[in-house]
This record gives sequence, structure tokens and C-alpha cells, in this order.
Amino acid sequence: MNKRCSRCGSEMRIMLRNVVYRSKVRINHVPVHVCQNEYCSHSQVVDIIKDDLKKLMSDLGTHPTRQAIEFKDISEFSNALVLVANEPEGSTARIVIEERINELLDLFLLAQSLGDEDWIMDIRKRLVEIQYV
Ligand SMILES: [Zn+2]
Repeated sequence: MNKRCSRCGSEMRIMLRNVVYRSKVRINHVPVHVCQNEYCSHSQVVDIIKDDLKKLMSDLGTHPTRQAIEFKDISEFSNALVLVANEPEGSTARIVIEERINELLDLFLLAQSLGDEDWIMDIRKRLVEIQYV
């Protein structure tokens, strides 16, 4: 998911940032594209997580209580990036992702056998998101 900066055209990298909402809520591990040009440093929320972030903010409302939220519990894309970031060796990143996909597929079969439509939908969405890591 390489992206060019809309301001200066430099390469952007995906990083995990902590976002503060309404000065009250700290949302940890939000995937953000950050421009690699240090004079620009333009940042932009990654498209694939925009809907999850919007939904979270609308659930929190305009007067949220002080709290911290782990975005990786909501977004599979964020979760997968955290898994990869926690790996000391870059070469094992793929294996970590494959293990997570296998885990999701197991959960998918379980959800299917239980006929739990909401759960099936959630896992399906996660399986799509993890392909972008
Ligand atoms: Zn830039």
C-alpha cells in the first residue's frame, strides 16, 4: 500500500499513531500514512480504516468521557500491523500474518457452524482487511 504525498509527492509510509479525540479519548495504534519528507510530514488516515474510525467517533459522541481505546481491537488492519511490528525480524512478518489468517479462518468455520451472521460478517471484513498488510 505505497502512497505518494498529496502535498509534496514524496513517498509515504504507514505508521501506527495515537490519535486524541476531543482532548479526552486516546485511540492507540491508528494506521496513518506519514510523508517521509521531514519538511512536509503530512499525515493521512489510511483509507481502509476510515469507516471503523468514523464509527468509533460517532459512537463516542461529542462529549466522551476520558478513556483510552485500543484501535486494534476494532480494526483487523491495525491488529495485523501491531502483530508485525512486534516481530523482531522482518522476515517472520509474513508467517505472523499467515498464522493470523489461519486463526481467522478457524473462527470463520466456527461462526458458520453456529450460524452467527454478525460474527460471520465481522470475520469476513477482517479477512479482507488483512490482505492489505
Ligand atoms: Zn509530503
